[in-house]
Amino acid sequence: MRCVSTRGGTPVTLCEAIAKGLAPDGGLYVPELLPRVSITVGALELSGVAQQLLAPYFVGEPLPLEDICRSAFTFDAPMTALGDDFLLELFHGPTAAFKDFGARFLAESLSRLGVTQTILVATSGDTGAAVAAAFHQRPNLRVVILYPKGRVSARQAHQLGAFGGNVHAFRVNGTFDDCQRMVKAALADEGLKSSLGSANSISLGRLLPQMAYFAAAASRSGGELNVVIPTGNLGNALACLMAKQMGLPIGRVVLATNANRVLPDFLHTGKYEARPSIATLANAMDVGAPSNVERLQSWKLSPEADWVDDAAIRQTIVRTWKDHRVAICPHTACGVEVLRRLKEQGATGRWAVAATAHPAKFETIVEPLIGQRVPVPAALQELLDRDSNAEPLPPTEAALIARLGSAV
Ligand SMILES: *Cc1c(COP(=O)(O)O)cnc(C)c1O
Repeated sequence: MRCVSTRGGTPVTLCEAIAKGLAPDGGLYVPELLPRVSITVGALELSGVAQQLLAPYFVGEPLPLEDICRSAFTFDAPMTALGDDFLLELFHGPTAAFKDFGARFLAESLSRLGVTQTILVATSGDTGAAVAAAFHQRPNLRVVILYPKGRVSARQAHQLGAFGGNVHAFRVNGTFDDCQRMVKAALADEGLKSSLGSANSISLGRLLPQMAYFAAAASRSGGELNVVIPTGNLGNALACLMAKQMGLPIGRVVLATNANRVLPDFLHTGKYEARPSIATLANAMDVGAPSNVERLQSWKLSPEADWVDDAAIRQTIVRTWKDHRVAICPHTACGVEVLRRLKEQGATGRWAVAATAHPAKFETIVEPLIGQRVPVPAALQELLDRDSNAEPLPPTEAALIARLGSAV
């Protein structure tokens, strides 16, 4: 399918858009249209749902969609009960956060396209690990990760530095927004840009596959499913809105941010105002300048939104444990709290909250609150048992460009 930049210009093929990441004019690629599909889910596994859903986008593209889906979707996204509502558990992949789905699909696609690239990733926590795991040991592909020092959990930091080989981690003395700005500058650098690629949530190769679990959840639930999505840069939320636009039985889509309330404010006032990011307990959502807003605007999609401060995140983790004996991560807690408010205001119907990460990734926050150890998933434990190395880097574009120039 042809894709265009949110800022206009000449269309490219989907494969070109996936290989490029960011459009040359600085805009974000979007498919020219969101085709309506009707999916027969039945007993299909997630990889089968993904195939049906994504097929219209891959018509005429030189990529074997079926193989890619089978290799990328090797774990499920189950719905589990939370009282009368549901958690859509998106954390059963190798790095225990939803980003494994998109990162694995992108890595499979770039490998099969024969791309030789250094993938540059700014991460506020989970992206870097998911991308590192997905690209680790792939020939012709390297990963360079930038993360804000002290703003990711100890386990997240350990994960980022635990891969080695073709994965290099930089610990930046700054914020996530600094990391993102540095990555953008390097991707635009004349001397470097031909050898660099991106894998942030702006990449269509990550965005498209994320539709699959919302489509599967909605289709399997036998009625319209309303969804609350913890969000920072709208990756997951856009995927859900796109699946809805494609005709899947999805009702209300409600964004839940942390105290970085740019999105709720934008949706309430109609005015987009980026701000410096604030450090919160839900650190993977500490985004002050959510670039994906450009896609929201280009499709004229309209979610609802609310925001949750750190005190409410703590209370929600405690309450969810007390009421349901379910441990949730701080990001998921934002969603659970927003759903509680919605129901207090009379919301009805079937509701699911996207559970974006496993609580064991944020054990220093979750365990003291619930007074329990959170068992660590096996894949995560395996990474934590390895040595971990990251190189310090000042928060400037020049520092990154110089370092990349001298071969990492
Ligand atoms: C990345 C991340 C988010 C926010 O992702 P979006 O890009 O806004 O969809 C939320 N929770 C966790 C655990 C994350 O890793």
